[in-house]
Amino acid sequence: MVKKHKFSVLSVILFFSFGMASAQLSLLKDFENSNLIAKNVSIREQQILVDSLIAAEAEFEEFDEEEYPAGYLYTEWDNSTLNPYQVKIAALPDSFVINCSDFFPPVENAVTSEYGFRWGRFHAGTDFRVKVGDSIRSAFDGKVRITKMGKGKKGYGYFIVVRHDNGLETLYAHLSKILVKPDQIVKSGEIIGLGGNTGRSTGPHLHFEMRFLGNAFNPRKMVDFECFSVYNDTYTIKKKGTFSEMTDYLNNPARYYTVKSGDTLGKIARNHRTTIAKIQQLNKMGKSTTIRAGKKLRIS
Ligand SMILES: [Zn+2]
Repeated sequence: MVKKHKFSVLSVILFFSFGMASAQLSLLKDFENSNLIAKNVSIREQQILVDSLIAAEAEFEEFDEEEYPAGYLYTEWDNSTLNPYQVKIAALPDSFVINCSDFFPPVENAVTSEYGFRWGRFHAGTDFRVKVGDSIRSAFDGKVRITKMGKGKKGYGYFIVVRHDNGLETLYAHLSKILVKPDQIVKSGEIIGLGGNTGRSTGPHLHFEMRFLGNAFNPRKMVDFECFSVYNDTYTIKKKGTFSEMTDYLNNPARYYTVKSGDTLGKIARNHRTTIAKIQQLNKMGKSTTIRAGKKLRIS
C-alpha cells in the first residue's frame, strides 16, 4: 500500500477528467456550466460524473500529510518497502535538527555488535543482547509503518519499522513476536515486540537501526548506550558527518586483515564471511600460494 500525497485537488480532478472518455470530458464542462438539463443529459450520466468527482475528493483525503509522522519530509507512506524513498546521502539536506528529547531505550542491555563494517559487510545497526521474550520498546513517539517477516533465513526475521514525529525511522529486528499493527500510533517507551532470534541471527539479540530518509546512521551519535540516554535534547543530522561510516565504506569498500600465526586461508575466509577463492582473487594469489603471519590480505 503506497500512498503518495504529491497531488492537489485540482490535479486529481484533472487526472480524472483526462482519464474519462471524451464524451464524459465534455460532460464535465457542461456540468460546470450547469447546462446538463438543457443538453438533455440523462440522470444516469449525471450520477456517473458526480460519483467520479466524489471519488476524486475521497482519494485526495487519503493523501493528507498531517496523517503521517513527518509527512512534510517524507513523500510517501509504504507498509511493506523498507526504503521506498531511495534518497542518496548526497541528496539529503545539509543539516536537519531532530528533536530527540522523548527518547526511550528499546532495551537497556549491553551492546554486542556496533554499527559499521564487520565480517566483510556493512552492519547498518547496533545489536543488543536480549533474552527471547524480553520487552522491546519504541524509541520515540510515532506511527508503525511496517511489521513483517523478512525473507528467508538471511534477513531481519520478524521486524518492525516505526516512523517518528521527529523525522527519524527506527527498525527493530530478529523479534520473536510483534505486538503492534501497521498504522498504529505508538508512544515512546511503549512495548512494540518481544526479543528473539529470527532471521539471520546466531543467538537472541535485538538489531536496532536509526534511519533518516532511508539512510541508516550510527545510533551512538545521538545516544549514550552506557547510560541509555541521549546526549542532548536535539541532534543535528549533518549530511557530512552523520553518515561518515557509510560514506567511507562506499568510497573505499576495500578492507584488509593482517595474518596472525596459526591462521589458515579457510579460517580467515570463514571469519570474514567470504571464500578462499575470493581472497585468492582479491590478492592475486595462485592456488598454492601460502600465507605468512604479518602479511596484509585484502578480504573485501
Ligand atoms: Zn545487527
